[in-house]
Amino acid sequence: MRKQIVAGNWKMNNDLAETQELLSHIKMQLVKKPEAEVMVAPSFTNLYSTFEALKDTPIKVAAQNMHQSKSGAFTGEISASMLKSIGVTTVILGHSERRAHFHETNDILAEKVNTAIENDMEVIFCFGEELQDRKSDKHFEVVEKQLKESLYQISEDAWSKVILAYEPVWAIGTGETASPEQAQEMHAFIRKNIAENFNEEIAENVSILYGGSVKPNNAKEIFAKKDVDGGLIGGASLKATDFIALVNSF
Ligand code: PEP
Repeated sequence: MRKQIVAGNWKMNNDLAETQELLSHIKMQLVKKPEAEVMVAPSFTNLYSTFEALKDTPIKVAAQNMHQSKSGAFTGEISASMLKSIGVTTVILGHSERRAHFHETNDILAEKVNTAIENDMEVIFCFGEELQDRKSDKHFEVVEKQLKESLYQISEDAWSKVILAYEPVWAIGTGETASPEQAQEMHAFIRKNIAENFNEEIAENVSILYGGSVKPNNAKEIFAKKDVDGGLIGGASLKATDFIALVNSF
């Protein structure tokens, strides 16, 4: 049985005090053991304090990015071993904001994925088409290319370390959500594509999250779809009541 997951991507929001406050509200409101695996991804400066604050909870901590190299002259960057040294073993890679604003190409992302896997880290791999791709009916093609060029080089064994997050760029932070049917259609396509390029077992076991303006009022319907295994949440993860409502949306 594949895992259901709700992961909050806090992006470049919240300083130390704000992060601690959000965490204490989340902890207070998480009254029952969640059915889904829950993760939060704070900024780098808040990773360690978040990890410490969540030690006695089932909530996992993820990084929002990391560099593909082991170490060296990469001013401003963070390596896999740095993350692991503070207990963080999950990393989000390929978020559309990293692709758009920081020029992360499919090739760079392939290197990042390989580095994460070599370091035995779990990867939340994000991908998804832009609005013009969907309008010109190229969304399946674009998604397949992103997967083939950045992810399909990994070994069969490495798939146990991979979580997919399908995030149509036109739905991120826009208030525009893919309909549950659109999400299901793409998730089913992704699973079939993995089965064709790897095998049925891998395809069945990988969790595929949906991301793009998921809110408490639309989550249940989206998460109920057969091939949707939860969500990667931006905006709504910054408010404890909304985030916990999403965690309880299965
Ligand atoms: C995201 O940033 O991954 C995301 C899905 O954002 P939002 O939920 O705000 O659309």
